[in-house]
Amino acid sequence: MARKSLPTTATAAGMAEFIDASPSPFHVCATVADVLLGAGYAELRETDAWTGDAGRYFVRRGGSIIAWRTAGEGRPAFRIVGGHTDSPNLRVKQQFDRTAAGVATVALEPYGGAWLNSWLDRDLGLSGRVSILGAGGPTERLVKFDEPLLRVSQLAIHLSEDRKGVTPDPQRHLDAIWSTDPAGPGLRDFLAKHLGVGTDDLLGWELMVHDVEPSRIVGARQDLLSAPRLDNQGTCYAGLRALLDAAESPTIGLLALFDHEEVGSASQRGAASDFLVSVCERIVLAGGGDREDFLRAMAGSICVSGDMAHATHPGHADRHEPGHLIALGGGPVLKVNQNLRYASDAEGAAVFELACRRAGVPMQRYVHRADLPCGSTIGPITATRTGLVTVDVGAPQLAMHSARELMAVADVPMYSAALQAFFAG
Ligand code: ZN
Repeated sequence: MARKSLPTTATAAGMAEFIDASPSPFHVCATVADVLLGAGYAELRETDAWTGDAGRYFVRRGGSIIAWRTAGEGRPAFRIVGGHTDSPNLRVKQQFDRTAAGVATVALEPYGGAWLNSWLDRDLGLSGRVSILGAGGPTERLVKFDEPLLRVSQLAIHLSEDRKGVTPDPQRHLDAIWSTDPAGPGLRDFLAKHLGVGTDDLLGWELMVHDVEPSRIVGARQDLLSAPRLDNQGTCYAGLRALLDAAESPTIGLLALFDHEEVGSASQRGAASDFLVSVCERIVLAGGGDREDFLRAMAGSICVSGDMAHATHPGHADRHEPGHLIALGGGPVLKVNQNLRYASDAEGAAVFELACRRAGVPMQRYVHRADLPCGSTIGPITATRTGLVTVDVGAPQLAMHSARELMAVADVPMYSAALQAFFAG
């Protein structure tokens, strides 16, 4: 049967632009919010009263964001696409301006399962959020420096004991060089000057480094996307375009993007928080429903947990389950794990397989090698928190958790089209 692909506005170039604008979870939320505002969505605040007007809305909680479009008349049910805004990286400590061997450094430590070797010898920018003392108390400012401010240097091969290199020690080997002049202004001075405040007015920060090399379409046939943070901004972008492109449907389409997945999701704004269930309940209540209506709506809802998937590595094919090889450019991936590192079950698998068929894209089925520990996603946590049937899916990529990852250009529109078909289903 010839497949007819669903039209989608998701492209690899669009994803590259999204990722380059979004070096931190807070910037992912800002980028998503900008796109939503441009598409006619209105921002709500959790502290405000929500009216029952039908429409398109979003709400932010730190580095997490939830957007939805209400449906027409009838009993509400949600079609939820979830993902995460954070990616493993190196983050700035609290006492960060240091001197080592006569060089000014900035103290960094890993966030999540960063593949540490990949952060060495790269030109690093800095981004995140800073709480500063304003006239009326603390205020928050986002910062984003795409200039190469920092560098974590590798040890020369001649200085390693066996010439095989050194696996970086997270405590001793990750501080970045700031300047050759330890007597000059440090990062604290630099930040205060940029923000127009005194150094004592910097009250709190969540700052992280990023590779300043822009994302690029690469390969002899221009069929690959080389970019940082594909895990999981690949889903943030594909899910956002899907929400905007999806046809009207009788269900409430909702995109939930959470911070802190890479460190377990247990936080005020992570997938284990009350953020999603609280927003869903308030949508039903604002629409005139009661708690019974909310619980009935949840019982009829379903969640697709989107996170990137492992394509089969050409140099390490033996690391993959031989019956479940995943092709770059082969289409969206259903992820199943018997130990529930992924939430997918038969019911959820059926929903996603049918969404892929409606979208006209092939679907691949992933199972991790039984003798290797499998990674996880927000899927099992969201399922536990909400009681929703949840299916874990993704798009194939290589080098997950590296500072620089790789996926196929063709998978971007196919992934988004599948999510779009799910929203419309
Ligand atoms: Zn992920």
